[in-house]
Amino acid sequence: MKLLKDKIQQEGKVLSDVVLKVDSFLNHQIDPMLMQEIGEELANRYSDEIITKVLTIESSGIAPATFLGLVLGAPVVFARKRKSLTLTDNLYSAQVHSFTKNEVNEISVSKNFLSADDRVVIIDDFLANGEALKGLVDIAQQAGAHIVGAGIVIEKGFQQGGDKLRQEGLRIESLANIKSLANGKVEFFD
Ligand code: 5GP
Repeated sequence: MKLLKDKIQQEGKVLSDVVLKVDSFLNHQIDPMLMQEIGEELANRYSDEIITKVLTIESSGIAPATFLGLVLGAPVVFARKRKSLTLTDNLYSAQVHSFTKNEVNEISVSKNFLSADDRVVIIDDFLANGEALKGLVDIAQQAGAHIVGAGIVIEKGFQQGGDKLRQEGLRIESLANIKSLANGKVEFFD
């Protein structure tokens, strides 16, 4: 997706050979015009499928997932990283190792919002080692939902998550796929 790649080149900050900061449009401040295009592009990629629910994880998956949900007319459910006082039992949960924080979080989704009747697309902001996506797949499987596939805003293809999960049979559509962050420069796969 050219608009997204241009934005990454213009505003992304390469923090190391493995970490890209995009807090001016995705991870802190959000660019709603870009998010709208992202929602439309993701809907196009999955136009061959029936989708009843969009599943993501807080917080940075929520914006792209919501714009996709708007185009599809489907509800958006986000997995929570902390147990809240109002979210106690009746949960699907999975353990996820956080790439950016280097800690393990338990993520959970209320059983009220995901069921075996759902056809789910899973959305996240980044795909690195695939831990977050695996946790969301786990939750959708616990619900008995049909997983249509995943939509990722920025895949870092030089890390192993995407390849591993595709080999396991998961359809993954990524809108920008980074080949390298070496020498402070962002290089994309074609
Ligand atoms: P994974 O679970 O695939 O290893 O990492 C994906 C998760 O870690 C995403 O939900 C995202 O929040 C975070 N993440 C991974 N790599 C990056 C990165 O380079 N930049 C930012 N901002 N977040 C990342």
